[in-house]
Amino acid sequence: MVQLVPTQDDVMGILRRTGAFREGHFVYPSGKHTPHYFQMPLAFRYYDTARVLAVALSRLLRVEKEISSALPKISIISPGPGGIPVAFGVREALSAEQIYWAEREEGKRMFRQYVQKGEINPCIIVDDIIRSGAAIEETVAIVRELGVTVIGCGTIVRFKDSPDHLGEDIPVKSLVEFESKFYDSGDDCSECKSGAPVEHVRF
Ligand SMILES: [Zn+2]
Repeated sequence: MVQLVPTQDDVMGILRRTGAFREGHFVYPSGKHTPHYFQMPLAFRYYDTARVLAVALSRLLRVEKEISSALPKISIISPGPGGIPVAFGVREALSAEQIYWAEREEGKRMFRQYVQKGEINPCIIVDDIIRSGAAIEETVAIVRELGVTVIGCGTIVRFKDSPDHLGEDIPVKSLVEFESKFYDSGDDCSECKSGAPVEHVRF
């Protein structure tokens, strides 16, 4: 049976409809300007939408032989809170055994206390959005410190200028590859030039 994965346009339609993808004139705390903004949890507040997105992502992951042959003894790992609903949805669709998520404490990404070496199955790292890829890289590092093998990576949205592979051999699977546009300041921002009102975003 062929399992269909929604097209990038379908997924962007869902993100637009739920308010997770927004167009306008946004300014980050860093001072960067951009005409687009993703607030992914807005798509995951509706259970049906969350399910469609997670099932679609799970289909991209399942075709990887290294993943399908390791199931169900794998863990799904989120770099932070944003990826937790993705991790639960993908786990459900793949019938994977474990879920973990990292959090930032005092600026450092880490797992909860008492997560031990030897307990974590080979993992797939999933997130709702990959902007620079830094969160994924940090997660790969802490996962490997625990001696865990990374066998896959997936995200709902990936900005095209972030890495499309982890290391040499693990592709970053995504439902949307987005051409992001950022201006370092207002000086060269086309929305500033057109006088569009500014919205400040928190991160
Ligand atoms: Zn601007």
